[in-house]
Amino acid sequence: MTADTPHRPETIAAGALGYEDAGSGAIIPPIQPSTTYVRDPDNAYRRGRVYARADNPTFDPAAQTVTALEGGADTLLFASGMAAATAVFQALDPGDHVLVPEIMYWSLRNWLHGPAVRWGLRVQGVDMSDTAAVRAAIRPGETKVIWVETPANPLWSVTDLAAVAEIAHAAGARLAVDSTVATPVHTRPLSLGADIVMHAATKYLNGHSDVVAGTLTTAVKDEFWARVKAVQAQQGGILGSFEAWLLQRGLRTLFARVRWQSAAALDLAERLSAHPAVSAVLYPGLPGFPGHDVAAKQMQGGFGGMLSVRVRAGTEAAIATAANVRIWRRATSLGGVESLIEHRSSVEGPTSPIPGDLLRLSVGLEAVDDLYDDLDAALRTTG
Ligand SMILES: *Cc1c(COP(=O)(O)O)cnc(C)c1O
Repeated sequence: MTADTPHRPETIAAGALGYEDAGSGAIIPPIQPSTTYVRDPDNAYRRGRVYARADNPTFDPAAQTVTALEGGADTLLFASGMAAATAVFQALDPGDHVLVPEIMYWSLRNWLHGPAVRWGLRVQGVDMSDTAAVRAAIRPGETKVIWVETPANPLWSVTDLAAVAEIAHAAGARLAVDSTVATPVHTRPLSLGADIVMHAATKYLNGHSDVVAGTLTTAVKDEFWARVKAVQAQQGGILGSFEAWLLQRGLRTLFARVRWQSAAALDLAERLSAHPAVSAVLYPGLPGFPGHDVAAKQMQGGFGGMLSVRVRAGTEAAIATAANVRIWRRATSLGGVESLIEHRSSVEGPTSPIPGDLLRLSVGLEAVDDLYDDLDAALRTTG
């Protein structure tokens, strides 16, 4: 960022860092599909780019915008959120110990307890909403990464990032945070002491359900970051040019979208809390929610667009509710402009720790009264 770059995050996101094409004056960054770059006559690469597995100027607008929004030193764009998250663990050595949430994004949980363990990582689950439990589980000198997701799928439990960062650093470990649901609109984990922040950019950062992408942003460009970069450059989990371009376009409306979605989610959470067919609403913005005080401390301007409801009449009624909505789309994923509803325990299968009566809701940009009326009608048909 240069000294005259605007520093307020809304301005950074909206303005794509003030891009201007030197030749044409165009204000929208171009798509560069080239896979290779010309060498100087003496065989150096003074312009800094060699080959497109690691280098692509089309990555820059989105990567630099995320770096600025997160207050970091560098950002890498990955082919998916999973490619980003797994790169952090693949930068570790066999035998390293990592602490991960007991309940978290399902696919990453499966990867950690499957392939990561087979590759020699010692993976230990812990209740990340319980700071004392994290302190008891950490092994100074052996634990290399604490991985946190907050609010965490799909119960939206909240981790105190500043407290866990302190525990990590006292033990010589790094704190990496999956901040997909909070987004930089509400939380900046690096400012609370985290070392790396990850986003499934497939979700809110792009925001239109038309790109699969992931990001990692580091607080400092250190030796560990060099290892993460090498994992990406060697394994090639990079974004395509067109996807990187779409991502920078999506980022420009991030603040408007997420603020709308968070306000609508809070409104729905409050109304659904009073619904006779709903036994519980899980949402960090509700004062009665266990993680509410921590969320209020570390989330600014809202609590995100994700909530879950538990249907009083049980599993069959929850499935029937999802079957009977008309506006909510019955689909996985989150963070797009269209509202999505999902029965997580049938998606995750018999080993899922998620209650059968739970429906996960991703709030989009539709009129909130329509969203409520649609859910209300579907809940009423199931008693
Ligand atoms: C979707 C998601 C991921 C994985 O991202 P992909 O782009 O689907 O690979 C990781 N964490 C969270 C919280 C997610 O919602």
